[in-house]
Amino acid sequence: MNVFIIGIGLIGGSIALDIKSMYDETVIFGMDTNENHLDEALQLGIIDQKGIQSELINADLVIVSVPVDAGLVILPEILNEIGEQTLVFDVGSTKLPICEAIALHPKRKNFMACHPIAGTEFSGPKAAEKGLFEGKTNIICEVEKTTFKLQEKGKDLFKKLGMRIRYMEPKSHDKHIAYVSHLSHISSFMLGKTVIEKEKDEQDIFDMAGSGFESTVRLAKSSPAMWTPIFKQNKKQVIKSLEEYIANLTHFKELLENDNYEEVFNEMQNTNRIKEILK
Ligand code: NAP
Repeated sequence: MNVFIIGIGLIGGSIALDIKSMYDETVIFGMDTNENHLDEALQLGIIDQKGIQSELINADLVIVSVPVDAGLVILPEILNEIGEQTLVFDVGSTKLPICEAIALHPKRKNFMACHPIAGTEFSGPKAAEKGLFEGKTNIICEVEKTTFKLQEKGKDLFKKLGMRIRYMEPKSHDKHIAYVSHLSHISSFMLGKTVIEKEKDEQDIFDMAGSGFESTVRLAKSSPAMWTPIFKQNKKQVIKSLEEYIANLTHFKELLENDNYEEVFNEMQNTNRIKEILK
């Protein structure tokens, strides 16, 4: 099997590692605008060789794992190059723009719009991890637009990666993911900013930072190059989720200002329900 990974970073590299260990006689070709990442991926054994666009005609599987703005540009070009039996899937964190961008492409049926809900705060091929997708959910959008045989091929791979599959419309995906992923990243970035700004005046603050701060601010280590286009593409939903979050923060502040500790207690107790939801 010839597998082409376009964007050989955390997600593309992690899928490559799993595919290599699961499928015999597979050749992994890497393509990336970052030559250093390609060299690193070769050295780390994540890819077998560098690939070029004109070779895509020989691909059985193409995985597009680049930032979501780049995905909009390169996906139509990739679809232009592939053969009739090639499956192409992306892993981007937004789904409506990419589904709209290729809606009328003659090879739309070769494409599967995916979002594996798995990752870390690190980027590049060095961050790639074997088994990253085990037990995680893969959201597939507009599955009916992918030809049946290629759907089966994709689903078989996701099953081997140990993933659960959820089907969603691109609009619902972008709406729901704004709350559970995009908002958490903004919240973490701005928490980090608030503490860093304070630290300019108070050197000791990081000595006092415990594991609570560390785990809450973990996502603030994430790549701005990856996240800026995500927030741009999902701007409307992200702003809506931010407005609701800011209203909750303001409410909590007002409870403290008014010495309403009974409600402060209740707010936290009601939210403790998250323990049952995320066991
Ligand atoms: P990453 O580690 O930064 O890897 C992306 C790679 O693509 C980098 O090597 C990047 O090079 C390269 N690239 C950028 N533009 C390109 C282009 N036009 N053509 C070819 N290569 C290009 O990013 P990642 O975390 O794997 O994310 C990749 C995709 O997965 C994104 O769409 C993201 O939304 C999605 N995703 C991420 C996570 C997560 O937790 N990280 C989870 C689920 C889905 P440069 O570094 O030079 O830009």
